[in-house]
Formats: sequence, C-alpha cells, structure tokens
Amino acid sequence: MRLKDKVAVVTGAASGIGNEIAKTYLREGAKIVIADLKLDAAQAAAKEMDPSGKNVIAVAMDVSNEQQVNDGIDQAAKFFGKIDILVSNAGIQTVAPVDQFDFAKWKQLMAIHVDGAFLTTKACLKYMYKQGTGGSIIYMGSVHSKEASKLKAPYVAAKHALEGLAKVVAKEGAEHKVRANVICPGFVRTPLVEKQIPEQAKELGISEDDVVKKVMLKETVDGEFTTVEDVANVALFFAAFETNALTGQSLVVSHGWYMQ
Ligand code: NAD
Repeated sequence: MRLKDKVAVVTGAASGIGNEIAKTYLREGAKIVIADLKLDAAQAAAKEMDPSGKNVIAVAMDVSNEQQVNDGIDQAAKFFGKIDILVSNAGIQTVAPVDQFDFAKWKQLMAIHVDGAFLTTKACLKYMYKQGTGGSIIYMGSVHSKEASKLKAPYVAAKHALEGLAKVVAKEGAEHKVRANVICPGFVRTPLVEKQIPEQAKELGISEDDVVKKVMLKETVDGEFTTVEDVANVALFFAAFETNALTGQSLVVSHGWYMQ
C-alpha cells in the first residue's frame, strides 16, 4: 500500500495507459479520479474498478477547456477532500507531414497536450499548495520528448514542451513539497497506437507489419512493445517517492529505443 489514502487525478484514464495507472494506484491504496472527455467511458471504467463508488469517481473533462478543468478538479477535491497526485496523461495523435499539416489539427493537439497539462497543473496546485502536505505531478511525455519522428510535428513539439513545464513546476513547487516529473514511454499498444498503424502505412507507402517492425520498434533492443503495466510501474514509482530528491526528471521506459 504505497499510496494509502492519497487522492490521485488521472486524466484520460478511461482508456489505455491512464486506465492502467488508475488501477495500479487503486491497488496501492489511493482514491482515484478518472477525468476524461468521454463521461460514459469514464463512468464505466470507474464502476469496473470500484463498484462501491467510494474509492473511484469519474468526472467529465476536456483538459483543453479551462472551465471544465477547474470544475472537474473542484468536484474531485470536494468529493475526496484533497488532491495529492496529478497524472496529466490525456492525449491524442494526428499524423501528417509538416507541409500538409492542417493548422486546426495542429492547434487541437497542442491544446490537449500542452494547454491540458498547464490547466490541470494550475487547478491541482491550488489545492496542493494550500494543503501543505505536498504533492506529485506526473506528465505523460514520450520518447518523443527526446527524439523526433516523421509525420508527428505537433506531438513531438508538445512532448518536448512537457519537459520544460515539469522543470518549472519542480522549481516553483519545491517549497510546497510538490514534485514534477515526466514519464517517456516507447510505443505501447493502446487504441492511440492501433489507430496510427494503418495511417502511417498509408502515409509512408509501406505495409502495416513494416510500420510495427521497421518504424515503431526498429530502434528497440528486442523488438518489443512497452506495456501499460511497464508505464504504470514507473508512474507508481514517481507518485510514491516522498522527497524533492526526485523532481524535474524524466524517465524513459521504451525497451532501449532511446538511451540517455
Ligand atoms: P488512449 O487513446 O488509449 O487514451 C487516451 C485517453 O485520453 C482516452 O480515454 C481519451 O478519451 C482521453 N482524451 C483525449 N482527449 C482528451 C481531452 N481533450 N480531455 C480529456 N481526455 C481526453 O491513448 P494512450 O496510448 O493510453 O495515451 C495516453 C498518453 O500516453 C498520451 O498522452 C500519449 O501521448 C502518451 N503516450 C502513449 C504512447 C503509446 O505508444 N500508446 C507512447 C508514449 C506516450
């Protein structure tokens, strides 16, 4: 029980990586707030994790909408009485070459990843600073916080931006015992990645099998996908770490695709 009675908000936890992080935190004794765009999916995930409705709640939130973020975080703090952990995880992917990238799609991706991280951080810091017991903020970066790939201009730009945000929050948050760190996963087979495989095959003119082997997993040490459990274990490590010794850092979990 490494997170006993901590309250954790996980954005985008109706699916994929966020969902596994929520389950892992719950097993470790935390109370969970599933904050997701899709309320019905968030409610179904909350019910599956905790049929009693006492330890896991769902809140509807578009992380790029300031009012919805503030309302959702206030609702969560009111229900559980405090906020100790934020996992800013909600995200999307859109692929196209830069010269053909639709501006509206660029802005949508940047808004969800970068504005979303800022808005949820600001809303949670309000509680974390007031509580006086500190907190842990975890951003879902990517190997794309370190490396570039073709077709992913806004995603690579956004994931790099999260490293900068985490470092500022680490500096400002220190006196309040608020830590900020970034997890940088390699490819994980979630709906976000499943959608990209045919899209990249079309853009690059290669087979879907080649997208997996020659694009996604080419640089790994063993040709393996990272799993949601791998990422959740890192998220647990960051959340449970008690002191400012571990802040402003990023940890890559990618089967060696990127080595620091
Ligand atoms: P996913 O598609 O399985 O889940 C994403 C979740 O975010 C969904 O539940 C979706 O409803 C939610 N969401 C989307 N837009 C939102 C918004 N505006 N407001 C609130 N919720 C919103 O994807 P995933 O693979 O689990 O991705 C989660 C995070 O991990 C993303 O930030 C992604 O960039 C990052 N990531 C994923 C991989 C990977 O290979 N899957 C690798 C590195 C980083």
